[in-house]
Amino acid sequence: MKRKFFLVLLVFAIAISITNFTTFASSLNQLEEFDLNETNTYVIRATPDKEINLNGMSIEEYKASQNIITHPTNGVIELETDTGIVTLYEVSEFDLNENFKTETPPLTRAQPFGWLDTVNTTTISGWAWDSDRPNTPINVRMYFNNQTINKSWYIEITADMYRQDLVNAGIGNGYHGFNFGMNWNILPAGFYEIEVYGMGGSNALLQGCPKTYTITNPVGTLYNVTNYTISGWAWRASAPNNPIDVRIYLNNQTTGQWFGPFTITADLFSAGIGNNYHGFSAEVIWGSFPTGSYSADVSGIGVYEDLTPLLFNLTNSPKPFSIYQVNNYWCVDSGKHLDWDGSTIYSTEWNTAVTKWNNYKSGVIRKDTILINQDVKIQDVPALSSGAVAQTSISPSSGKGTGVISFSTSVMNGLGPLYKQIVCTHEIGHALGLRDNGGDGTSTIMHGSINTTTSNGNLTNADKINYDYMYNNKY
Ligand SMILES: [Zn+2]
Repeated sequence: MKRKFFLVLLVFAIAISITNFTTFASSLNQLEEFDLNETNTYVIRATPDKEINLNGMSIEEYKASQNIITHPTNGVIELETDTGIVTLYEVSEFDLNENFKTETPPLTRAQPFGWLDTVNTTTISGWAWDSDRPNTPINVRMYFNNQTINKSWYIEITADMYRQDLVNAGIGNGYHGFNFGMNWNILPAGFYEIEVYGMGGSNALLQGCPKTYTITNPVGTLYNVTNYTISGWAWRASAPNNPIDVRIYLNNQTTGQWFGPFTITADLFSAGIGNNYHGFSAEVIWGSFPTGSYSADVSGIGVYEDLTPLLFNLTNSPKPFSIYQVNNYWCVDSGKHLDWDGSTIYSTEWNTAVTKWNNYKSGVIRKDTILINQDVKIQDVPALSSGAVAQTSISPSSGKGTGVISFSTSVMNGLGPLYKQIVCTHEIGHALGLRDNGGDGTSTIMHGSINTTTSNGNLTNADKINYDYMYNNKY
């Protein structure tokens, strides 16, 4: 009974096919119009050197004007449109019966077909195919439906990757796969359903849909803030192979200043986190920041509903730290004295500078006597190779060293008394272990480019904080 039923169907199908063929062939013979509303696709085989004309236009003109798709290769001209009536005219002599063959077009346009195979931490893959255009890649549109916040996004790509298994299954020429490298970090957190559509005459949901995925928010830890770096790790567990960015703000609680944001990518080695590359280590040139007590606010960057950055504070953040503008070497001895020797023609200014520092901490800086060891020597030189007005050399360059302060007479002689005094005060600061800085504007004695307006020659609060730090922790 079943078999008979199939036989009947088969006969019926052939009948339709013959009917269509006859109708179409006769249309062509008469060079009349045919209606693309009914069948959408015609395949006409002709020798390439024959000229044909559609509605009075060449194929290329017709294609441009009607958005028709033609494939004039290997003698095959495939006409495809969703609507419209096309009249085929012969413009040069050719034998229609000999040069044209028609194929019965599908009665209804087939929907795209395919599978969503895989949705995982790095990839969305599958294939999609339109049997009406069996060797033409089609687009797939991937919808990411966030069920948690009821929002949806999509991305459209072309499914044109070769897959032998598709060829084996008779799916066109096999160039119908897609393998999208997905970075889940671009989307907000939540539970997602992923649906993929094959894009064609009527867009069709692929088999295997929907698949689900859960996107998480950034987490991480701020390990440390040192003299050189701010370090830690941050990631979104839902994208274990993709790094995220980290945002750093530095708040100077002494001055009330904010610095940042500084954004770096957390992609350094960090064992045990995802693919092991989610660490960060921001190098900081502390010399460019004012002295003071700080907090470091460090966040992993996630995604808000409108896809703008959304910050997630890391564990241990904010973290307090302090910035001191000091070197790791100094001339002060363990008895907390800076004993100096030598001579300079700028002794008046030098003595004023010594007094400035000793007025803050009395008795530290002393003129050397025969009974004590010299910590720093002062001298005048005609010029310094650097061209600087003065320099302080300390050796060794770690811990307590012995220093030489050299004044360039060729530069110093051109300066006024206040400027000379500031130079002397600045170089004593170096012997005390303070370093050049720029973060306090031009107000500190220890600013790298001093001038006559530098704090009017007086120690600033920052100079004193740095000196305190050295006095209490280093000498
Ligand atoms: Zn200096």
